[in-house]
Amino acid sequence: MSDFRLNLQTSPAEIFVARYWRLPYPHLTPAQEFVHDVGITSNCNAVVSDCVWRVFTADDDVYAVRQLIGQDLMTLTDGELGVLPGLGLALRRIYFLLPTVLELKRLRISIHAYEHDTRQPLSSQLDVSLKYFEQKTTIHLPFAEGAWYAIMGNDWTDLHKAEPVSQPFAYDFVKLGPDGSMFAGSGMRNEDHYAWDQPVLAPAPGKVLLARDTLPDMQPGIPPDLHLMRQDPHLITGNAVVIGHGQGECSYFGHLRQGSLAVAEGDYVKRGKVIARVGNSGVSQGPHLHYHLQTGPNLFVDQGLPVQFSHFGMTGDRVDCSAIPSRAIVFNPNGS
Ligand SMILES: [Zn+2]
Repeated sequence: MSDFRLNLQTSPAEIFVARYWRLPYPHLTPAQEFVHDVGITSNCNAVVSDCVWRVFTADDDVYAVRQLIGQDLMTLTDGELGVLPGLGLALRRIYFLLPTVLELKRLRISIHAYEHDTRQPLSSQLDVSLKYFEQKTTIHLPFAEGAWYAIMGNDWTDLHKAEPVSQPFAYDFVKLGPDGSMFAGSGMRNEDHYAWDQPVLAPAPGKVLLARDTLPDMQPGIPPDLHLMRQDPHLITGNAVVIGHGQGECSYFGHLRQGSLAVAEGDYVKRGKVIARVGNSGVSQGPHLHYHLQTGPNLFVDQGLPVQFSHFGMTGDRVDCSAIPSRAIVFNPNGS
């Protein structure tokens, strides 16, 4: 018997399931969704042959099954199926979108592979718990008047899911003008954009845990200084504020306008206080507000949470409490 082994882990290690009151067409009913990456490591040259995901309900019934082999599997791995010792293989952005009929409890991932030279079969299995997040803080929209377009919401289409630890449920909001567009003129100046310099509001009371104001605003469409970002990847979110609401719930705001921060670390803020203004700092294609909720102040370390906003309007309806899917248009009825 050889001691060739295959190991699995997911990122994040425990997976939150986000629930939606309604998704855009054609998903007009309540839905639930989760996303994760899988990391495969081995102590030998392994080649993955198939992966199976089984989603179990709270009653331990299998609710959904997905199997990927060959080229379908390669779509998650940039064309690779080999697991080299010390390097591993990552399967990225695996998402499930399911009706909200049954409560989910765990995910079982089973992977089959073989050792490259001897063809010895290898397999590994991992059970991961699926959790529903019970948000304790009442969170209002972080902007005041006008219609805002969730160009990225926290559903499965969101590109933030490429960073599955802190940002899987992040939002990018832009303000819409009277004609429904995001900017006037060419859009090549920050001032052309309706979101630019709009006040950013504390969505709930709390203590300011991070206030960073060191990065210049970019011109729309101009690539950021990637050298700077490589030195410190945290800077991708540009000028940032984190407000801790207690009980492991922290609001993270990114790409704020340089010089606009109205709070300092250690300040206590009330809901509705203007904390900064929308800018275009960090890795940002144009002025927008990045917002997400996470378990602590540290990006890439603390886990992102599927935030539900309270008391707002979404595409014509009043909503008591909901996550906002991508491409929804929302407004804050509390705004002036
Ligand atoms: Zn963002």
